[in-house]
Amino acid sequence: MPWCEQCNERLGTDELTEEGMCPFCGSEPLEHRNSPWYFKFMVVATVIYLGYRAFQGITWVIHHV
Ligand SMILES: [Zn+2]
Repeated sequence: MPWCEQCNERLGTDELTEEGMCPFCGSEPLEHRNSPWYFKFMVVATVIYLGYRAFQGITWVIHHV
């Protein structure tokens, strides 16, 4: 879980801004600063997963029209 030093607040991953910043003060939460590779990996994995799901959805529609 990302942790904001400024707000002294634990942040949900879905609460962060698109850039992965704290939605309250705009600073970078601790966990992301310590392991940016992990965050980037998560973003890439999510994009690939969503792309795959979208592809599946399109394929399903094509076969059921
Ligand atoms: Zn903050």
